[in-house]
Amino acid sequence: MKYGIDMGHNAPPDTGAVGIKKEDDLTVAVGTRVIGKLQALGHQVVNCTPKSAASVVDSLSKRCTTANTSDVDVFVSIHFNSYNGRTSGTEVWYSSGSGQKLAQPVLNELLKLGYVNRGIKQGNFYVLAHTDMPSILVECCFVDSADDMKRFDPDKTASAIVAGLTGGQTVPSPTPIAVSDPEVLKLQQTLNRLKVYPVTTGKPLAEDGKPGPQTKQVKQRLKTIFGLSPTETVASDQAMWEAITSITVDRAVLRPNHGYGPAVRYLQFRLNTALDGLYAGVTVKAVMTYQSAQGLSADGVVGPATWGKLVP
Ligand SMILES: [Zn+2]
Repeated sequence: MKYGIDMGHNAPPDTGAVGIKKEDDLTVAVGTRVIGKLQALGHQVVNCTPKSAASVVDSLSKRCTTANTSDVDVFVSIHFNSYNGRTSGTEVWYSSGSGQKLAQPVLNELLKLGYVNRGIKQGNFYVLAHTDMPSILVECCFVDSADDMKRFDPDKTASAIVAGLTGGQTVPSPTPIAVSDPEVLKLQQTLNRLKVYPVTTGKPLAEDGKPGPQTKQVKQRLKTIFGLSPTETVASDQAMWEAITSITVDRAVLRPNHGYGPAVRYLQFRLNTALDGLYAGVTVKAVMTYQSAQGLSADGVVGPATWGKLVP
């Protein structure tokens, strides 16, 4: 099969709706994935989106001309709806009977994603009226609906459209490319600063901001040191960051027999004593040895100077 895929708008002055997100961005996000998935299934695809346009009519007519001159078998125009912020759901438009046969299965697949069913609808959109082959116009969902924008996922939407067009064929999503995430970078820098490293390498993590198994493993290690649940929950993450702050920012003074909790457990990790969270006995002795070695007064009181040496 040869498909003509049209990513709605994206040719000023032909620009789309703007709500919580921009229609222009979403039609490209979905359209490029539809093209990739159809090609992965062995179909030919012609991108009918014009690079520029002199007017809205020019933009629409260029899309149809590309589809008609490329002899595509099916034309699909991808759009997003916008209304009053409260209306939500998915709908597929057609103009001919052959288009109607395509519209229903595509809608059925989109409905599996949980959208409100706005049905298939017959209408005289320019691109439906001026293309020679069976054609549909998909209004995936509403860019100004918080519900729809929360539910919307470009890859799942593209998969649904492709499954609807091809009679259920699906293409697994490519492994997402890990991009640098400032939150992950901050975590990696913090773990390195605390000298908590992967058990396997014993070396600092790469500070690349990319989430990976090593960063995850070291984060779990730190939580275990703090005596927290190593599971990935909001509560456990919050407790971990509070414990980190108590060491790196607050630097609360620990006096012999008067310290208890995650900061003490961290101290014990650094000084290789048993992690019982209680600042007493062997741990105090280990601190005094450490203080002597660092040229500090060996008083066993972990204050700013000692914290400053442990976690510069
Ligand atoms: Zn549109």
